[in-house]
Amino acid sequence: MNKDEKTPPITVIYGNEPSCMTELLLSSVNLGSSIPKGSSIGIKPNLVVAKPAHKGGTTTPEVVEGIIKHLQAHGHTHITILEGSWIGDSTKRAYKKCGYQQISETYNVPLIDTKDDDVISVKVGGTSYKVCRSVSDVDVLINVPVLKGHCQTLMTGALKNMKGCIPDSEKRRYHSMGLHDPIADINQVIKPDWIVMDALCGDLGFEEGGNPSTMHRMMVSRDPVLLDSYGCTLMGLDAHDVDYIIKAADFGIGELYDKDEADTLLELNSPQNSYDLPTFDRSFEGLIDQRDACSACYGSLVRALLETDDEIYDLVVKANKKMEKPVFAIGQAFEQIEPWPYGEGTLGIGSCTAQGGTHVRGCPPNPEKIKEALRAFIS
Ligand code: SF4
Repeated sequence: MNKDEKTPPITVIYGNEPSCMTELLLSSVNLGSSIPKGSSIGIKPNLVVAKPAHKGGTTTPEVVEGIIKHLQAHGHTHITILEGSWIGDSTKRAYKKCGYQQISETYNVPLIDTKDDDVISVKVGGTSYKVCRSVSDVDVLINVPVLKGHCQTLMTGALKNMKGCIPDSEKRRYHSMGLHDPIADINQVIKPDWIVMDALCGDLGFEEGGNPSTMHRMMVSRDPVLLDSYGCTLMGLDAHDVDYIIKAADFGIGELYDKDEADTLLELNSPQNSYDLPTFDRSFEGLIDQRDACSACYGSLVRALLETDDEIYDLVVKANKKMEKPVFAIGQAFEQIEPWPYGEGTLGIGSCTAQGGTHVRGCPPNPEKIKEALRAFIS
């Protein structure tokens, strides 16, 4: 990679047409010509679940298609798409459902499911991590995250998208390590050359989507810390509330965004639309004891609580007030805690909580199953 070329730290484009926006964005930073001919190039979208991009959780396929067209127009032929969906969903299903199977066939670009990949071990500080081999094998990595919310880390963007480059067993372990440290650590090892951020319609509350906000913009940068901390400002967050961004900055992975610093942003056009931050009319404060819960599990519980009938939700809140203890226990740490600290009156979520008492089976259980179990438990 020619990293000496002078590019603005973050280039932004606004609009509603992802194909055309992608080409303008990539051309503005000379992305295709910055990559030496003959390089193997991996494109890493975010296909955390098998849901189409308009739901707000996955990368818009036209963005990845635009990147491929741009690369092929610059003579690049060794291109692959790499991804591993979250625990509990199938990457292959996501490739099909999200339009990537079609892209693969049209442009002759192989799809790699990192869940099937060989792994290599890497050491960061004193900690060992496993990384999927196909990711470490490419010459150039293009990270294509979605800017969106996350019910545990508040936001997810460039840095957290690298979690799709590790095996499922590691994803579980990351949660048991509290997520922030391993995310910052792994970004010292997996270092994308470019990040093309899809901020077209991310769900600003949930990683899995379901409540998209039309943000009408895309960004390109080489600095994941800068891009994520800039993304925080768009979401009304302070980057200092997202530990892994601050840890990554401390490791020297990139710079924190400073709105007062001139020349950080190059806007190719002007914003045409505003967007709405999500508001939830239900509070979960004090309801959940989460200890090292995987995102898929925690997301399912929050989704179930948002969608359950008013009557059930009110009963949950009343039970919480009466018992003065959490109604739900969730997370890998509960595998080691027997009996549960709260006894009866608490519903375990996920197979990790099996030995504690009444629980919803599944790893992770889906929101429908949780709603059904909750109805029977609380009524
Ligand atoms: S039950 Fe939930 S928290 Fe436990 S390993 Fe499975 S997904 Fe993770």
